[in-house]
Amino acid sequence: MIWKVIADLLMPRTCLACGAELGPEEEHLCESCWKDLPRTRYWKLRENPMAESFNSLVQRNMGEDVRYQPYGYAASLYLYKGGYREISKALKYRRNFAAGRYFARMLGTTLAGSQYFQDVDLVVPIPLHWTRRWQRGYNQAAVIAREVAACLGCPCDTRLLKRTRHTRTQTHLNAEGRASNVAGAFQVNLRGWSKLSGKMAKNGEGDGVSEGLRFRHCLLIDDVFTTGSTAASCERAIRAALRTATPGRNSNNARRVRISVATLACVER
Ligand SMILES: [Zn+2]
Repeated sequence: MIWKVIADLLMPRTCLACGAELGPEEEHLCESCWKDLPRTRYWKLRENPMAESFNSLVQRNMGEDVRYQPYGYAASLYLYKGGYREISKALKYRRNFAAGRYFARMLGTTLAGSQYFQDVDLVVPIPLHWTRRWQRGYNQAAVIAREVAACLGCPCDTRLLKRTRHTRTQTHLNAEGRASNVAGAFQVNLRGWSKLSGKMAKNGEGDGVSEGLRFRHCLLIDDVFTTGSTAASCERAIRAALRTATPGRNSNNARRVRISVATLACVER
């Protein structure tokens, strides 16, 4: 406590959202910003604006076939607006891992308490292209995904998805532009998926027969959800890989895998 007080005197900690100095008891946000945090409560709603955009894009990708696959759930902790935009920016651009992990754990415990996300058995961060990851030194989505997986008590596969195309920054693109910008930008490596399944089978948690299909509910993680085009593009890539990996009799199992998405923040629509 005394060290915290001295540290605060040397380098005052400030509220991420409004910039006010934080008291020794306050973490990342001041009391009034905590009170006003625009929580979405999407984790309580099967259908919500985020899930609707995500599923409508998935539907557009899949056409008729979509009727046979489970609905993808979607949730984020708070709305991406006002000063609250600084929370994810602090992790993304200013290496504020303490804040990033803090809010990621909050997202994780929230999801662990949700009827829609309790059964998630694999967490997958949406990747950056290696050049951007190299520039930044880390993928902010992976930082969040590890915390969420720990809260849900399931593995996190950071190698399942790979961004193969260096896409332009999405910031200034509209919905159409975003969708075509990320279409086909991801490659899937199911090796980790199968290996994890095998390990679970050995531990008596699965039959190991369905190879790589031990996972029933896969959760994509990103920092901010805007139009959902990136998540939908990942969904499409994973589905395609599962279809290829499990021809014939097992293809129905692959189809039954649910692919959901969760982010720290969601742009209001
Ligand atoms: Zn504040």
